[in-house]
Amino acid sequence: MAKPLSAAAFLKALKDEGLKVVEVGSWRTHNREGHGAWGPVHGVMIHHTVTKGTKDTVDICRNGHASLPGPLCHGVIAKDGTVYLVGYGRANHAGLGDDDVLQAVIDEKPVPTDNEANTDGNARFYGFECENLGDGKDPWPAVQLKAIEKAAAALCRAHGWGERSVIGHLEWQPGKIDPKGFTMASMRSRVKDRLGDSSPGPSKPDSGSGSSGSGSSSTTTYTVKKGDTLSVIASAHKTTVATLVKLNGLKDPDKLSVGQKLKVPGKAAPAVQYEPFPGAAFFHGGRHSAIVTAMGRRLVALGFGRHYTNGPGPDWTNADKANVRDFQLSRPDLAGDADGIPGPKTWAALKVPKV
Ligand SMILES: [Zn+2]
Repeated sequence: MAKPLSAAAFLKALKDEGLKVVEVGSWRTHNREGHGAWGPVHGVMIHHTVTKGTKDTVDICRNGHASLPGPLCHGVIAKDGTVYLVGYGRANHAGLGDDDVLQAVIDEKPVPTDNEANTDGNARFYGFECENLGDGKDPWPAVQLKAIEKAAAALCRAHGWGERSVIGHLEWQPGKIDPKGFTMASMRSRVKDRLGDSSPGPSKPDSGSGSSGSGSSSTTTYTVKKGDTLSVIASAHKTTVATLVKLNGLKDPDKLSVGQKLKVPGKAAPAVQYEPFPGAAFFHGGRHSAIVTAMGRRLVALGFGRHYTNGPGPDWTNADKANVRDFQLSRPDLAGDADGIPGPKTWAALKVPKV
């Protein structure tokens, strides 16, 4: 879990990677704040624009259009490799995608096929729109591909991510085809090469040497949080600082960065427990429950929080109902009975964490 970079740090990361960057208007504050979350961020998403001409491409990505307000990404990568910054913060680029893909990105594992649209990607990914017609014929100039590689690597480097944190829109949302004309596997391999040995991400294959002496060769990934030290992480995972240093090839054990991923010995944490369905009769005016708060937070995480003016909170309100209804309408299997009151099917799809 990583806090998004500040606009200044984002700009610096791109420039430090050797990119030519053009700042467009008030890009630092142009975003979709108020329409959902921004962060924590977990990766970088690559798109193609289906446009021709850099000026029009940049204008569209900054302003959006009637049915999809801008910004449509953070940076536009033009044919000549220049990166135009059009927005920063929440942007309309990723839409709803597959929670299993997000989990794979967080774990730096190969992504599974995207077959669900149940998770708000605009909160979770940096987005780059790349100028291309997306017809499979429009060429991708070498300088443009190099710029995509650099932009993705710059953010991975800033967050301590490996190349598996870079995905294409087509890997996120069912039905999307972008980017078309190169493979994301080839782009990830370029990012990996660029990051080289300096990448603290768990990109090296598991050695499973068992040299930790714990007798267990399985490892799981831990993401460094604010205030963490190696000794705190070690004791929380019943291991030693020396084991963590060895397992992760750390050069300087005192230098941890928030969002950095560490291998820790032991099996993966137990699966998240979900709150059981409280029954449709539970949801009525006057109901005051932590379950309502948890449900509301889940709706916001999924991108269905637009009716909350403040909250979500423990009282069942019309805003809860309206957001549940939006969620139901977004899912073909639930839209037929979209009344804003969770039934067993809606509840199962919401996956509300256990209170
Ligand atoms: Zn896209």
